[in-house]
Amino acid sequence: MMKAEAIVQARGLKRHYRRGSETVKALDGVDLDIHPGEMISILGPSGSGKTTLVNLISCLDVPTEGTLTLAGKPVTDLSEDRLAEARRGMLGFIFQKFHLIPTLTVAENVELPLMFLKRPVDRAATQAVLQQVGLENRAGHLPRQLSGGEMQRVAIARALIARPRILIADEPTGNLDKANGDAIFRLFRKLCREQGLTLVVTTHNLALGHEADRVITLEDGKILREEPGRGVK
Ligand code: ADP
Ligand code: MG
Repeated sequence: MMKAEAIVQARGLKRHYRRGSETVKALDGVDLDIHPGEMISILGPSGSGKTTLVNLISCLDVPTEGTLTLAGKPVTDLSEDRLAEARRGMLGFIFQKFHLIPTLTVAENVELPLMFLKRPVDRAATQAVLQQVGLENRAGHLPRQLSGGEMQRVAIARALIARPRILIADEPTGNLDKANGDAIFRLFRKLCREQGLTLVVTTHNLALGHEADRVITLEDGKILREEPGRGVK
């Protein structure tokens, strides 16, 4: 069977920083193909370049060298405007800290991205994404009335509302206990399987990381190892 075209393709991706007279090679020549519907985890010790890599894939940062293609479109040489356009609707983000607005309800937090995208709010659609993350009964709650695991589910629903093709999560379980962390990964798996979402997730947690389809381990800004995870069908 022919493999579908990669939805993310990185070639020779580098991100170097100058710190005084030295150069920090945060990312130092990464080649990576990610296929639609795949769940990939990025492992590696602190400082190995995980955040740098996902920030580049997210188009939040620009590589020093190398090329990046999203859904067949090269994004490395785009202007800010074109970059924003390429990201719009294509990418959803989840962070270690949930970044919910404390004075907005769960439903309002989830709907916030639609405002920036100038898309209409549709309560039925909001309810549908809340159901996907198991929070259909929390729409009217405020963030402070939720547990950490529930707050991260709200952040996932907020990432899903614009119907992205790729979800990028940087240490999404870093602030959660084991049970909640496990549940978030199970949810990610379900989203990949049932909706064909592509998921890129960084984690410190080896056991959780290996639940993905494929596990990439970084060291000093390079891919040290690439192996199948337990998620493989
Ligand atoms: P990880 O997410 O795996 O912990 P990072 O991608 O955050 O690693 O960082 C990789 C390396 O790049 C680290 O040595 C870090 O100190 C360095 N780095 C990250 N961001 C910057 C920056 N803005 N300026 C200088 N060095 C940075
Ligand atoms: Mg990091």
